Amino acid sequence: MRPGIDVECREVGLRDGIQIQKVFFPTEGKIAWLTAEASTGMPEIEVCSFVPPKLLPQFSDAKEVVAAAKKLDGFTISALSPNLRGAMDAFEAGVQKLNYVTSVSEEHNLANVRRTVDQSVEDFKRIVELRNEKAPEVQLATGLATALGCSISGQVPVADVMALAGRFFEAGADELVVSDTVGYANPQQVKEMFNAVISEFGEKVSVAAHFHDTRGLGLANVFAALEAGCRHFDASLAGLGGCPFAPKATGNIVMDDLVFLLEGTGLKTGVDLDKLVEVREIIATNLPEEQLHGMYAKAGAPKGFVPATQAA
Ligand code: ZN
Repeated sequence: MRPGIDVECREVGLRDGIQIQKVFFPTEGKIAWLTAEASTGMPEIEVCSFVPPKLLPQFSDAKEVVAAAKKLDGFTISALSPNLRGAMDAFEAGVQKLNYVTSVSEEHNLANVRRTVDQSVEDFKRIVELRNEKAPEVQLATGLATALGCSISGQVPVADVMALAGRFFEAGADELVVSDTVGYANPQQVKEMFNAVISEFGEKVSVAAHFHDTRGLGLANVFAALEAGCRHFDASLAGLGGCPFAPKATGNIVMDDLVFLLEGTGLKTGVDLDKLVEVREIIATNLPEEQLHGMYAKAGAPKGFVPATQAA
């Protein structure tokens, strides 16, 4: 955790938010977005994904985007990679944190990365070896996708999540990201899951939450995770993104609304909320067809509202 803040937010819009976009988000636009958002005080930005351009042309400019991010400072540059090849490229490009993802649900993992869960854990061990050898300063985060429900296999037992979290911890993960990939979770379930994961791993590694607002419970789930002790949250500006399994659904939880919730609760994020809202313009300009989400941006601040970061 960066000094002086209570909760660490990670912007994932430049990865999760745009990965199913059919329209290419121009490279200059991506750089403008991350530059502007870095200047709001956002502690971490996931700037791209290292995947074969044939598979996801949206990220064909990954190296360029990381190079631009490296010219800035004050935030952690992270990138996603689902495999060793991508991890190699990410380390070479100079990312500071690598996000690796495996689904807790076997069926989902096979559909998503065409690997069994066992194979994915073995791949992660190779990434740890590579990291130790080539880029020992890089942090490794492991996403536990479908941890709160799966669009193929339905409910996912807490025990399965704990088992996979344990395997990644043993293998050398620095962070566990409990992910509601398809937006199935409710606050009660979130509370139970985060209580379990944090009591087992919270002292040893960072435990982060990744929620989608697919069914409108995103921020309620944030509050439940907060109560269980979670202090790391993923979100995307303007709630960009969607769910490939629910075509009309909304995307990640809205970053601007998340910051409003946290700051209003008295938890310092280090992020300038009004400045953050202005960054939405960059998305609107580059994706004119896209519907932007977020209630704070529409309604503005309540009278007399003082964000915790500014009150400090
Ligand atoms: Zn996601």
